[in-house]
Amino acid sequence: MADPDSRSVILVVEDEESYQDALNVGLTVEGFVVIGATNIAQARQLMTSAKPDLVLLDVMLPDGSGIDYCRELHDSTRTPVIMVTARTSEVDVVLGLEIGAADYVTKPYRLRELIARIRAVLRRPVACLDQEVACFGDLRIDFIRRTVTRRGLEIELSRKEFDLLALFATRLSQVVTREVCLDTLWWGLELSDTRTLDTHVKRLRQKIEDDPTNPRHLITIRGVGFRLDP
Ligand code: CA
Repeated sequence: MADPDSRSVILVVEDEESYQDALNVGLTVEGFVVIGATNIAQARQLMTSAKPDLVLLDVMLPDGSGIDYCRELHDSTRTPVIMVTARTSEVDVVLGLEIGAADYVTKPYRLRELIARIRAVLRRPVACLDQEVACFGDLRIDFIRRTVTRRGLEIELSRKEFDLLALFATRLSQVVTREVCLDTLWWGLELSDTRTLDTHVKRLRQKIEDDPTNPRHLITIRGVGFRLDP
């Protein structure tokens, strides 16, 4: 119960009773507060009245498409959405359309995996940031539009590179441990393969540093983690 995520309110938008019931029990046991909607109209009401911290959103709903509703949420709120898809063809749609979902799971999913993803999304710095834009050095990070510009020119970052930069930017001048990086970006699943993290940091340096081999902003703290300096 010490986990700060555990009191988060999760809105489950799901018309299949068996899934609603299982999620209600499973997430409540983990300490989350679960509220349920069986259609988009109900979900809209609860978004206003209950202000959930995260939305679990089914794709096929009786009064519309979860994909359209996800887009609507992305445009109107900063509440992260995890899409729940029934078929892999729906995954392609979720991934291909840039609808603003923070993550997705495919039915049937394992509750343990879903909870790991919920925790990871709730920990993402973008979701809990008060500010919409951060500027330091010659960088400007727009957390809403997920864009980064350097001296006015947009830098192309992969999703993971952006998440990593956003994580560092929300803890400017503070050391972010490798464990926190891995946990936030890879749900702690790849702890044995920390080279992935180093590869992403290296690519990020190539994009934001004048001299990537001698970085001025993104500093490695040996054996501990990284620190982003303004
Ligand atoms: Ca459904």
